[in-house]
Amino acid sequence: MTYQVDTNGFYGKFGGAFIPEMLYSNIDYLQKNYRQIAELDNFKKDFDDLLRDYVGRPSPLYFAPRLSQKYGGKIYLKREDLNHTGSHKINNTIGQILLAKHIGKTRIIAETGAGQHGVATATVCALMGMECLVYMGAHDIKRQAPNVARMKMLGATVIPATSGSQTLKDATNEAIRDWINHPEETHYIIGSVVGPHPYPDMVARFQSVISEEVRWQLKEKTGSELPDYVVACVGGGSNAAGIIYHYLDDPSVKIVLSEAAGKGIESGESAATSVLGSIGVIHGSKTMLMQTEDGQIIEPYSLSAGLDYPGIGPMHAHLIDTGRAQVYSATDQEALDAAYELSAIEGIIPALETAHGLAILGKMDLKSEEVVVINLSGRGDKDLATFIENHPDID
Ligand SMILES: *Cc1c(COP(=O)(O)O)cnc(C)c1O
Repeated sequence: MTYQVDTNGFYGKFGGAFIPEMLYSNIDYLQKNYRQIAELDNFKKDFDDLLRDYVGRPSPLYFAPRLSQKYGGKIYLKREDLNHTGSHKINNTIGQILLAKHIGKTRIIAETGAGQHGVATATVCALMGMECLVYMGAHDIKRQAPNVARMKMLGATVIPATSGSQTLKDATNEAIRDWINHPEETHYIIGSVVGPHPYPDMVARFQSVISEEVRWQLKEKTGSELPDYVVACVGGGSNAAGIIYHYLDDPSVKIVLSEAAGKGIESGESAATSVLGSIGVIHGSKTMLMQTEDGQIIEPYSLSAGLDYPGIGPMHAHLIDTGRAQVYSATDQEALDAAYELSAIEGIIPALETAHGLAILGKMDLKSEEVVVINLSGRGDKDLATFIENHPDID
């Protein structure tokens, strides 16, 4: 039993590449070459050097004493919020821009929800002198204004997606449409473990540096590389993939994922894909998604732009399907409360996405000796307006 992708690009019954013919040549080339390119000595050296000197890796593993006291267990935070640009997204964009350079592409496109992936992509394009276009839902452009300004300052063109709920799904549709129209010169840097094979595996590998570090960091701190739990929020699933990657085949390490329940799972306004979803194809991949009986995608909802997506990556769909991962969910309000709490008791303002992972600690019934590692996927600067608006005492 393996939880890794198979040679056809599937994780159990999920995954694959369901793509229009115009993309066949690009995807086929990536499928045949992504592993070899990423394993070249000079590629690995460039990737490692940039992660160290430009991103600031390794990111710290921080024991959170007051959070631990409150929820039981020994809670460690993997500080991806301290990376350059403020989240885990930069790990993947560094890998993909090196890949784009290696295969001779000059034009980069990306989709973004909360803007963290857009900023990370705009950043690496500035670094490498490449043209950058970022598709972003018109609704998200309004709620994540600081990141829109950052992308523009970094030289990217931000293009609003105005269909559907004007969020991440719609931005992804627009990016795919662009790629179909400009396949020759363009590389599409997908921001999560979604999309056609090889993207889910490629992005997971670039993000796997997170759990590679956690293993030795935890050993230094506790004497063991193995925690009892790894916890992450899931939008598409890339920060979760990063922190679970090197623990997939350690059955004693329980994998816990947190989805966005929005206004409540039963409210009709949520993004709780694993509970409400069924198997289907979205953005080139067979996975779990929220859809009507006749296969129309249901518009998702979350206060958090980065989790406001109607699907999850095929790797996670498989982990959930096989029982390897357990899923909890957190509502908007629970996530807000968790963000206010972490700020007040640990002095760390997390991203609203990340707060969904923190919000389930109280539901896990932790025992005092249990070791928990949570991926602190990003920082909350971009969410200040939302935090202020929803807090009774800040104005
Ligand atoms: C994008 C984002 C997420 C959600 O995306 P995943 O691919 O599920 O990780 C979570 N946290 C932060 C800080 C993000 O920027």
